[in-house]
Amino acid sequence: MKAVTLIPGDGIGPEIAEAMKRCVEAAGARINWDIQEAGAAAYEKTGELLPKKTLDSIKKNKVAVKGPVTTPVGSGFRSVNVLMRKELDLYQNIRPARSFEGIPNSVQGVNIIIFRENTDDLYVGIEFEKGKKETLELIRNIRKLNPQADIISEDSGISIKSISAFKSERIAKSAFEYAVKYNRKKVTCGHKANIMKFSDGLFLESAKKTSSAYPSILFEDRIIDNLCMQLVQRWWEYDVLLLPNLYGDIVSDLCAGLIGGLGVAPGANVGDKYAVFEAVHGSAPKYAGKNKVNPTALTLSAAMMLRHIGELKAAEKLEKAIAAVIKEGKNVTYDLKAERNDPSAVGTKEMADAVINKMKRD
Ligand code: NAD
Repeated sequence: MKAVTLIPGDGIGPEIAEAMKRCVEAAGARINWDIQEAGAAAYEKTGELLPKKTLDSIKKNKVAVKGPVTTPVGSGFRSVNVLMRKELDLYQNIRPARSFEGIPNSVQGVNIIIFRENTDDLYVGIEFEKGKKETLELIRNIRKLNPQADIISEDSGISIKSISAFKSERIAKSAFEYAVKYNRKKVTCGHKANIMKFSDGLFLESAKKTSSAYPSILFEDRIIDNLCMQLVQRWWEYDVLLLPNLYGDIVSDLCAGLIGGLGVAPGANVGDKYAVFEAVHGSAPKYAGKNKVNPTALTLSAAMMLRHIGELKAAEKLEKAIAAVIKEGKNVTYDLKAERNDPSAVGTKEMADAVINKMKRD
């Protein structure tokens, strides 16, 4: 039995985690789930958003599956996800977007893998609040260093965007290594290096430099706004996408939109020592406890985890059953129906049941 940390999370997290767990067990994977907490519930109990016990469990097991965790907008605590990625140095956020047959509002033929840098960029979380003494001092110092900085008015809030050469090169290397291993043809780097020459410019330079070690893989770059437009119009031209943290976050939701929404978009946070598998979507608080949302994204993330630990047969069985249930279109949640209020949509639990029954029959 392989021990794997499971963090159910909050909002819709606990119900999709339960559905995922039943599907993984039915696929025949021998997993000993080590259940741990993170987020608001953990904070209430322990005073820590990401308790040491949870981190220790991931460090011991090396592998985790995580449900979504709510992060307040504007004020309040910082993101548990960002904290976890930093603590465990989970520098690759790998988010596949693959079309499924049978989803009404989706396009066919998408097969894109996003490599999002996961520890740098605006997500370093260094911010200066409008009007604070240190913010005004920072603005004065920047003005001393750069005369053009008088464009920054004194009533500004400031978030630091830092892009490091080392972090950019290591994510570029991961994307190219993946492309070679899985017989992919092309890596496209998205950036805004025309405007942010020293941050996005460095990310692009690092990608270019890394690409020279992989002559069999085509390398190209796109300015991020143009990339978004082209992904919507000509998705078939894209293969592996290499993106800094913020653009990676946004573009992966865009790609999820192409294939039928967040309900079917899985992901993995991977470092050199540890890996945490989680869906692209968040905690969708308005649906919490309603047995309504799609368990597929987290279950597909668990299938990625099974591949990671070498349970290839179980992963394949699970992915095949999910694809078959989606294709039939009968036992699927509301988001996979042509009309969102289609009364024939089933709940989270029932969709998981259908996947389990499919595996039993095969
Ligand atoms: P969200 O992804 O939670 O939900 C956006 C919309 O997507 C939902 O209203 C719903 O229509 C749809 N959706 C999401 N998951 C679905 C599913 N499994 N099945 C069907 N439809 C689904 O995004 P949000 O509303 O912007 O964020 C809510 C909270 O989640 C915020 O606090 C945010 O910080 C957090 N968040 C957490 C993570 C994470 O833990 N990894 C990731 C993203 C957002």
